[in-house]
Amino acid sequence: MGVEKSTIEIAPGVRQVPGAPVVVTTIDKVINWARAGSLWPLTFGLACCAIEMMATGASHYDLDRYGIIFRATPRQADLLIVAGTVTKKMAPIVRRVYDQMPEPKYVIAMGSCACSGGIFRTYSVAQGVDQFLPVDIYLPGCPPCPEALIYALLQLQEKIKKETKRWGYWR
Ligand code: SF4
Repeated sequence: MGVEKSTIEIAPGVRQVPGAPVVVTTIDKVINWARAGSLWPLTFGLACCAIEMMATGASHYDLDRYGIIFRATPRQADLLIVAGTVTKKMAPIVRRVYDQMPEPKYVIAMGSCACSGGIFRTYSVAQGVDQFLPVDIYLPGCPPCPEALIYALLQLQEKIKKETKRWGYWR
């Protein structure tokens, strides 16, 4: 008898063995669940959008309840929220900070400036951080409100939950 027939699905991808305190799932499911529930963004901001990011992390919105806790060093962070205008002079430093973060790591481009240069269509501003970083979530707005950043973080969690074999050597 296969696992499908001898167990009951109690949540997407999680099955229970009837009459026994046993659940059956995949390593992907467990690792993605743990990873999505413990995102640690780097304490890092560049311009006005960072004020909204700080407000999101403060007591009124309280990101801790999602397991999202800001860290003060890239060595302990797995999420880079690029909050603000990135000048071409600053771009290599932002990239270096990203390179110092351990894998797996994620990037949210917060605000129109980070997404596309925003109102700064000038020679000195990077026209989107995807020119030098692999962006997972784009969050437009000038600035995006804390609710919008929370929505982006939830979207990132959903994306992480769908990853496969990100823990393996062969990914
Ligand atoms: S998107 Fe608007 S609020 Fe955000 S950094 Fe650019 S100008 Fe400032």
